[in-house]
Amino acid sequence: MDFINSVTNIIIPSISLTLMLFFLPPYLFFKYLFCTVRPIFKDDMLGKVVLITGASSGIGERMAYEYARKGARLALVARRENRLQSVASIATLLGCKDVITIRADVSKVEDCERFVYETINYYGRLDHLVNNAGVAPVCMFEESPDIKKFTQAMDINFWGSVYATYFAIPYLKRTRGRIVVISSAASWLPVPRLGIYGASKAAVTSFYETLRVEIGRDVRITIVTPGLTESEMTLGKFLTGRGTLELGQELRDVVMSMTPVMSVKETAKAIVEGACQGAYYLTVPAWIKPTFLWHVFFPEVLEWCNRLLLMPGMGSTDRETASKKIVEALATVRHYLRPGTVDFPELSNEH
Ligand code: NDP
Repeated sequence: MDFINSVTNIIIPSISLTLMLFFLPPYLFFKYLFCTVRPIFKDDMLGKVVLITGASSGIGERMAYEYARKGARLALVARRENRLQSVASIATLLGCKDVITIRADVSKVEDCERFVYETINYYGRLDHLVNNAGVAPVCMFEESPDIKKFTQAMDINFWGSVYATYFAIPYLKRTRGRIVVISSAASWLPVPRLGIYGASKAAVTSFYETLRVEIGRDVRITIVTPGLTESEMTLGKFLTGRGTLELGQELRDVVMSMTPVMSVKETAKAIVEGACQGAYYLTVPAWIKPTFLWHVFFPEVLEWCNRLLLMPGMGSTDRETASKKIVEALATVRHYLRPGTVDFPELSNEH
């Protein structure tokens, strides 16, 4: 047994590398060809039914407007009903054919079952399920006062998508519909304080990759990995170690530093266009993609850079990091890298 594994350890990597070298040029060529013809066969969303979770703010809200512009009929889900109502009104003005709002908590399986059935009862069909609802726990692992408080991140980010998908699949099969799932570039980037968040998003990516093998003939799946995008999250609304959602802009600056933040309108537009055109994977903005190659080929370098930038020095407080000092030193430049909205805490926290 051990001998066979020792031989395979030598043979498989060499064969794989050689095959990859030969396979890469035709693969890239056909992928490019596919991408150029893809817009011709894109989903026509006029009158189609789209269910979006986490539609009360940020990326989910803007995706609702993009689908509305395409004439889709919407089911909007989140916990803040008043926010959903105003999103629904704007969506109607933008061309949405019909819209319902459903107050629900995606971490509860019974709520997910209910919002899928309410959508089906009202519209009689489902074409796109957009699993977007999410929270970002931000805390050094060791400093968490109660580790159990973070299970809700997994319940919302991972199980919230999985539950909704489970109940929606039979209806999506009937329409040969699509699941759009919002993962994150944090799923491969080892960012201090985002360990639980990154793990929940890595679980999302892994689950939907496997599901695509299982049901991909009947239901198409687009896995989206956004980089930093203007939203309540990048405004600094995080799940703290105490298990509460709070606004922490100082901590936000430690974690985000001077990384450019994309406008939510552009991100949402790219996601909806990409999904309608049948994208398998979508990374917005595109410059984030090469960080995945660094993760695969030079993980130590990525770790070293993140430690240098995001960890406090010996004897310093948690917030005294190079990343934070860069933000302070370049205060005048940062307005070119982030939309102004992420610096003003005009949040509504009621649920
Ligand atoms: P926001 O905080 O603006 O939006 C999060 C949305 O999720 C809100 O509508 C919120 O609504 C909803 N939500 C949170 N918890 C629940 C719950 N238990 N049940 C139902 N809805 C819930 O942030 P974003 O728009 O940025 O986040 C959208 C998605 O994008 C998330 O999955 C996030 O992880 C992902 N993402 C964001 C990035 C960014 O830089 N902004 C980068 C990469 C990924 P309510 O509170 O009303 O329930």
